[in-house]
Amino acid sequence: MIPLESCFISPCIKQTQNNFWVWDACSDALITFDKENLQDEMAYIVENDIVVAALTQQLDGLSDNVQVKYRSKVVKYAWPMPHQAAESIPWVQITLASGETLQTKLLIGADGPNSMVRRELGIPTVKWGYDQSAVVAVLHLSEPTENNVAWQRFLPTGPIAMLPLSDTESSLVWSASHRFAEELLEMDEESFVDAINSAFWSNENQSELIETAGSLFRSALSAIMPSAGSPRQLPPSVAGIGPKSRVMFPLGMGHASEYIRHRVALIGDAAHRVHPLAGQGANLGFGDVACLTQLLSQAAFNGKDLGAIQHLLEYETERQRHNLPMMAAIDLMKRLYSTNVAPVVLLRTFGLQATNMLPSLKEQIMAFASK
Ligand SMILES: Cc1cc2nc3c(=O)[nH]c(=O)nc-3n(C[C@H](O)[C@H](O)[C@H](O)COP(=O)(O)OP(=O)(O)OC[C@H]3O[C@@H](n4cnc5c(N)ncnc54)[C@H](O)[C@@H]3O)c2cc1C
Repeated sequence: MIPLESCFISPCIKQTQNNFWVWDACSDALITFDKENLQDEMAYIVENDIVVAALTQQLDGLSDNVQVKYRSKVVKYAWPMPHQAAESIPWVQITLASGETLQTKLLIGADGPNSMVRRELGIPTVKWGYDQSAVVAVLHLSEPTENNVAWQRFLPTGPIAMLPLSDTESSLVWSASHRFAEELLEMDEESFVDAINSAFWSNENQSELIETAGSLFRSALSAIMPSAGSPRQLPPSVAGIGPKSRVMFPLGMGHASEYIRHRVALIGDAAHRVHPLAGQGANLGFGDVACLTQLLSQAAFNGKDLGAIQHLLEYETERQRHNLPMMAAIDLMKRLYSTNVAPVVLLRTFGLQATNMLPSLKEQIMAFASK
């Protein structure tokens, strides 16, 4: 899980996030997610370095049972047959680039969106590119702030997000066409910083018609629903970027129709890949890990074969039930916000404003996203 090292290059930080503000560049509509009690964290922004360091520490403590093969590449798999045909091997066989071979009762394919495990098993996968790349960077804020809010603005060209890292730094994820993303990478620092501030602050995409309709709708809602949401705040301004910052990643969506086969389970981006607009990709993978770990512990406790299909099927069912609705919602958001056609902008403006005034619906959304 380490393709994003380059976007997390400031000293290791784990920042709590109490609020999440999302708003539309084509209208005044916004939605805020927050905890009533600001002492409660809504989410954590954890740098990749911290996740990797924590995993390494755990693995060091398990050295009697776990052997880590760093800098190894799998070049070939041989699969066992489910019904133990005479010529079948009993377990999955793995060949490394060094020529070494390994065998396992259960292979967990965690090899990312271009998974070789998934490909070699011939698992059908629905996938498409978004014709977008995300530019990531570490941002220096103009002045120290409490910085516990994640900000995301939907521009017609793609969402831009600023996620808190510390009192003075945030992490940028800016999704845009491949060409614009390349331009962003090539800009000098000053122009890049101006482009970020303008993307968060400029009103150039707003029209009077949408403004008027949106504000009438908001007034009507406020009259019938007293909870008008939090008072409007503005994102912090950006003064510079971290050294070695600015990298881009192509974006796409993908879903494996099967997460399991005999003695194999897919987890993380090998099973599902999403647009980063909801910050859910790694979270979905962690959910897979939690679910599979629980089912495998139970199987081990009951003396069952870890690679047996029964508990793997439970894993697949449980995770697809959670992942598919989340993926569909993320893809829908991506499409809904990729246009500045007036009827669509109006529709999403009304939808966002109405949702923002329904605390119980927002709580349900937060609860689902944190599962
Ligand atoms: C710009 C951007 C921002 C994002 N922001 C967020 C966010 O805020 N929150 C969030 O939850 N998610 C986020 N994500 C999603 C997150 O990065 C991914 O979901 C996550 O990295 C997937 O982890 P993974 O381990 O499944 O796959 P990967 O991270 O792709 O890791 C797969 C690993 O397998 C290795 N591998 C592949 N093939 C082989 C082989 N044959 N032999 C040996 N090793 C192999 C690769 O080298 C790699 O290290 C973001 C993604 C992008 C692009």
